[in-house]
Amino acid sequence: MINKSLKELAQALAAKQISSVELSTLFLDRIERLNPTLNAFVTVDREKSLAMARDADARIAAASGAKPAGPLTGIPIAQKDIFCAEGWTTTCGSKMLANFVSPYDATVIEKMHRDAGLVSLGKTNMDEFAMGSSNETSFFGPVRNPWDTSRVPGGSSGGSAAAVAARLAPAATGTDTGGSIRQPAALCNLTGLKPTYGVVSRYGMIAFASSLDQGGPMAASAEDCALLLNTMVGFDERDSTSLDRPVEDYVRGLEKPLNGLRIGLPKEFFGEGCDAEVMAAVRAAIAEYEKLGASTVEVSLPNSHLSVPAYYVIAPAEASSNLSRFDGVRYGYRAPDYGNLDDMYAKTRAQGFGAEVKRRILIGAYVLSHGYYDAYYLQAQRIRRLIANDFVEAFKSCDVIMGPTSPSTAFKLGEKAADPVQMYLSDIYTIAVNLAGLPGMSVPCGFVGGLPVGLQLIGNYFAEGQLLNVAHRYQQATDWHLRRPASAA
Ligand code: GLN
Repeated sequence: MINKSLKELAQALAAKQISSVELSTLFLDRIERLNPTLNAFVTVDREKSLAMARDADARIAAASGAKPAGPLTGIPIAQKDIFCAEGWTTTCGSKMLANFVSPYDATVIEKMHRDAGLVSLGKTNMDEFAMGSSNETSFFGPVRNPWDTSRVPGGSSGGSAAAVAARLAPAATGTDTGGSIRQPAALCNLTGLKPTYGVVSRYGMIAFASSLDQGGPMAASAEDCALLLNTMVGFDERDSTSLDRPVEDYVRGLEKPLNGLRIGLPKEFFGEGCDAEVMAAVRAAIAEYEKLGASTVEVSLPNSHLSVPAYYVIAPAEASSNLSRFDGVRYGYRAPDYGNLDDMYAKTRAQGFGAEVKRRILIGAYVLSHGYYDAYYLQAQRIRRLIANDFVEAFKSCDVIMGPTSPSTAFKLGEKAADPVQMYLSDIYTIAVNLAGLPGMSVPCGFVGGLPVGLQLIGNYFAEGQLLNVAHRYQQATDWHLRRPASAA
């Protein structure tokens, strides 16, 4: 049961082979057994989960009624702890919110649980305020990669990635500001999708860099991601950047043959900077696509080398503004001892935030300050436009862009923690996609020394359906995505 796809689990629930309570118990028991090693979940609440499962069972049994069962009703999933969920502790990986119990549901939570009837298995560990590529910045300690527990799972959605890889959950949500769905998916052998900016509501998703943040699914396969994405999307008037577009069914186009698909290979992604064996796995995946009827064309993203520097101006600038709300006054942590009000702010923020978050707030405040704004922030915004234009040009001659997701496989815990620049370079292939607001995916495409490698797919605006189709056809021809680490075998 633990290795079944979402479609198979839905069939088992519909056929009454298993109840949602039984299925959820199976995963809750695995969490109890394996989480002490992996540290993938920060909050588990068996009673709450089982109450949701009982509701789901009632919906399935009723067949019709006020809330008829949907295709995923009763299936348990894990939620990244960046999504506010009513009555659940919502920490965002920070001491600042370690005791914060959300009084309301994020739109994603509302849609997935209240509407679609999915059961929450709990909240997953993450880099503090989603800042990181290794999950080592979490106040709750690092997450371990189920493929090799001396290594990182990637970040910032590392808890979600480790949970699904070790089958502590059949699927999970993540968020991606600069790669945080795709990079951990690559390092843990999962399929992950970052949708076009504005497709998934950010309401109730704790803000890091608002113009880049986007939630999305992380699961074993593209088909599972399509099913999950169907429950997550839609216009939301509570998010001013939510896009009002007709709702799509992402499952419908999955089977389309790939004949005539034009794959763009950016020459900047195939030069130096990537581990040679990782690159070999990526090239083998592209050869597989050619067998499936696709052709390749070289494209260029001439400004992509500027994406990391531009991102590390824009994202901290937005973060410094977003995180100013954590001041000890309204909610969250407050320093126990202080003098006047200013001292309370200062001590609260000094004690409540970790080193990486402080570094970003300082950078952000600096680049936005009078005298430096034009030189850094404005310049970064100009580069952002150039990067987006590069993609517009590239998509004139191809349908999807492919390349590596991450320049290396999972690295050792502690290996890059002391060197922020090395850490920032983990995202060289993913960040441009966020700056342009495009959809991107990572798909398992091989192993190097027993560690998973991810193939990145980048689509044009609103092409998530096409990306899922392109990933699904590959997954029908290969079995990389079905491989499991020993703990889940
Ligand atoms: N690793 C990048 C960062 O540290 C991206 C994080 C993310 O996508 N949330 O900012």
